[in-house]
Amino acid sequence: MHTKNLTELAKGLREREFSSVEFTQACLERVGRLDEQLNCFITVTAEQALRQAHAADARIQSGEAGPLTGIPFAHKDIFCTQGVKTSCGSKMLDNFISPYDATVTQYLNEAGAVMIGKTNMDEFAMGSSNETSFYGPVKNPWDPQRVPGGSSGGSAAAVAARLVPASTGTDTGGSIRQPAALCGITGLKPTYGRVSRYGMIAFASSLDQGGPLTRSAEDAAIMLGAMAGFDARDSTSVDRPVEDYMVGLNDSLEGLKIGLPKEFFGAGLAGGVADAVTAALGEYEKLGATLVDISLPNTSLAVPTYYVVAPAECSSNLSRMDGVRFGYRASDPQDLEDLYTRSRGEGFGPEVKRRIMIGTYALSAGYYDAYYHKAQQVRRLIREDFLKAFETIDVIMGPTAPTAAFRLGEKSDAPITMYLSDIYTIAVNLAGLPGLSIPAGLTDGLPLGLQVIGNYFEEARLLNIAHRFQQVTDWHELAPQGFE
Ligand code: GLN
Repeated sequence: MHTKNLTELAKGLREREFSSVEFTQACLERVGRLDEQLNCFITVTAEQALRQAHAADARIQSGEAGPLTGIPFAHKDIFCTQGVKTSCGSKMLDNFISPYDATVTQYLNEAGAVMIGKTNMDEFAMGSSNETSFYGPVKNPWDPQRVPGGSSGGSAAAVAARLVPASTGTDTGGSIRQPAALCGITGLKPTYGRVSRYGMIAFASSLDQGGPLTRSAEDAAIMLGAMAGFDARDSTSVDRPVEDYMVGLNDSLEGLKIGLPKEFFGAGLAGGVADAVTAALGEYEKLGATLVDISLPNTSLAVPTYYVVAPAECSSNLSRMDGVRFGYRASDPQDLEDLYTRSRGEGFGPEVKRRIMIGTYALSAGYYDAYYHKAQQVRRLIREDFLKAFETIDVIMGPTAPTAAFRLGEKSDAPITMYLSDIYTIAVNLAGLPGLSIPAGLTDGLPLGLQVIGNYFEEARLLNIAHRFQQVTDWHELAPQGFE
């Protein structure tokens, strides 16, 4: 069962080849047997999953099943799940049992999907390697000496290792696409505002966006269909009907104009990644697309801009973790200030503290104009680069990340080197555009990703473009050794 895609699984359930309870038990068995080596899960919700599976079986029996009814999945531990620990990868929330569901959680519940557990992640989604997690790093199933990427590392590794057919993630600067690339799976970051952020623990509110991690574009289309939608509880949610992401999957790519930004193919891009991306672009030419050289001149400003905007917003968002209302509280506080400082000092890890300090500094009186205001202006320029490009081309392609998976510990003491892992993904978040990553080859036995960036709300087009590639290649079918 663990090798089937979502469409095949839904068919198997409908035709009673297996029940949701059987499938859920099989997933739980795989997680129990294999996750010790990988550390993908912070919490496994076996009892609740079996309850949901029983309910799903009844619904399938009554003929009211949707495409995800009875299908197990894993939730990044950033999505609030009522009655279940929601840690966000932090000691700060290690004792936090959410009293409510995120909108995405609610939508997946309504679809009848079965949550197997909550996945490991970088602390408060700050990281590119999953090494900042309070719960220890996740190992890449392709090579356990290497990182799975981050921050949605547990979600990506769990899908790559076939522990679950699909998972959820969030992407603030690349956290869906980069781990998808490093683990050899498909990951989609939708347009900002397409998926509700309600109950998705905020990192940088103007950049955060939830999306699916799956083995194929077709599966991502099914997941996005359930996750997307207007939500009055999120003021940045866009009131626009959710498309049927399945209908156009097979549309022809004849005449598609693909823009290749010269800034995405320069120094810093590993040779093996460049070669595989070039080969993938060749496949697109065979499918009828034309390649057009373009420029996104402000690309080099994306990482520095992000590292003002994201820390500024996170320093504000994380101020709610004060040791008073919820989360970690230091023992025996002497007074209120001691309670605040020690709860935060003991509850947050070093990367989160680094970001809070940068953000607080950038927002302080006297520096605000020099840093935050300036970053907002540059952000506008970055967005304009994309809009100008989309006047002449349909989509943009390039590598998702500059290298394949790196070794655990290799970059953890060098924050700036780590920050450059997201050099091709961050600008997309600053502009609020949709982007996806699909497996496009191997370099030294490790997977790498092709990134496809579209104009606003062109998720259906991106999925179509990814699906056509997956029909003529089989990179997305490869499984890491030991997890086939
Ligand atoms: N790696 C980036 C960071 O550390 C992006 C993380 C994300 O998208 N959540 O902030």
